[in-house]
Amino acid sequence: MQTSFTITQLMDPQIASSEKILRACVHCGFCTATCPTYVLLGDELDSPRGRIYLIKEMLEQDKPATPEVVKHIDRCLSCLACMTTCPSGVHYMHLVDYARERIEKTYKRPALDRALRAVLARVLVNPGLFRLAVVAGLIARPLAPVFAALGMRPVAAMLRLTPRRMPAPPAERSGKVYPPERKRRGRVALLSGCINPVLAPSTNEAAIRLLNRHGIEVVSATGEACCGSLAHHMGREDEALSQARNNIDAWTHELEGQGLDAILVTVSGCGTTIKDYGFLLRNDPAYAAKAARVSARTRDVTEYLAMLGLREAGAPAPLTVAYHAACSLQHGQKVLRQPKDLLSKAGFVVKDVPEGHLCCGSAGTYNILQPVLAEQLRARKVANIELLKPDAIATGNIGCIMQLSAGTNIPVVHTVELLDWATGGPVPGPLVEVVERRASAR
Ligand code: SF4
Ligand code: SF4
Repeated sequence: MQTSFTITQLMDPQIASSEKILRACVHCGFCTATCPTYVLLGDELDSPRGRIYLIKEMLEQDKPATPEVVKHIDRCLSCLACMTTCPSGVHYMHLVDYARERIEKTYKRPALDRALRAVLARVLVNPGLFRLAVVAGLIARPLAPVFAALGMRPVAAMLRLTPRRMPAPPAERSGKVYPPERKRRGRVALLSGCINPVLAPSTNEAAIRLLNRHGIEVVSATGEACCGSLAHHMGREDEALSQARNNIDAWTHELEGQGLDAILVTVSGCGTTIKDYGFLLRNDPAYAAKAARVSARTRDVTEYLAMLGLREAGAPAPLTVAYHAACSLQHGQKVLRQPKDLLSKAGFVVKDVPEGHLCCGSAGTYNILQPVLAEQLRARKVANIELLKPDAIATGNIGCIMQLSAGTNIPVVHTVELLDWATGGPVPGPLVEVVERRASAR
């Protein structure tokens, strides 16, 4: 694609990176076929190619974002299916990330939208505040249809996404070391994060047990907190980078202290952002090298487990599991086979979901900010999953777990919970009833 930036514009490293990406696009349009918003809306401006043109225009003209640009970029899920499909290697993720940053800096959103985004950015990253919000959501859940009828769809969406039961309080992990059960084979840091310990504390509990059982010492680095992914996807770059620097400091302390074989992540949305820290901080002389080192050491938990090899395992009950590939894992990190191979080796019957490349509509805060499209995508995903008649759905991202759980009665669990169970851990909470039913039917 031809571009027409001035020399002065190209002296800005962000514009220079964006220009390279724009020039790689040959506008073939292959990406439109796998873009969920184009599939739903059929509008070129809601396709990757259309958005690329909008971003090019916004950047070249060096003007504030227009309402039209904002509308179509806001509708993008950042699912990155387009990057998997693109034959020219267009790095759409870096382009749309920068577009969101420009929008945030140059466009004044309506007051309610601004307030909602500010609340999300403040509450979601603070586990104490977020837990209070979940309690409030549980109480107000029955009012979801009232908020929807009043036109307050994002509030209704938040209430519908609230778990039906209050999860157990998260354990205080900062600075804790979890020793291996057998001779030490390795040492890793495990990201605690912000949302995950509040909504699904069982995920990291299972990951720690599983790793310890396989000879891996697990540490939760002192001071580590939100990875910055949520702020990053809302274009709030200063907040995102400050959160990234905080975690880089925490992990660098461990890397330079007792050392780490890997930094493991059980939320694939966070993993995608942490693997990109090196790029995000490339122009920060104080952090560029440290950020690149952290990114190079970061692995999704299933990548690391596949490399480690699970000890002899066998599913305690012969369950059929639909594997839902989170976009951030399949498109963002290109981790495709490992979770499925691990589950199969652990004795589960693993089934791929039809249209598996299409997003479930979760996408960070997308299911709150774009509830109509998110609900359509969830309905489509759930229909595809239910065709398989699985006993459970496994996935590697808390956003997908919450999004799917709100649309189906099939239990949704994290992949590591199943692997932990198959190698000696407890039955994952959402599966207890299924397992009991199976046992009494025998
Ligand atoms: S597939 Fe790639 S090269 Fe083709 S239009 Fe889409 S982004 Fe551009
Ligand atoms: S990231 Fe997803 S929603 Fe956005 S343009 Fe690419 S395929 Fe479409």
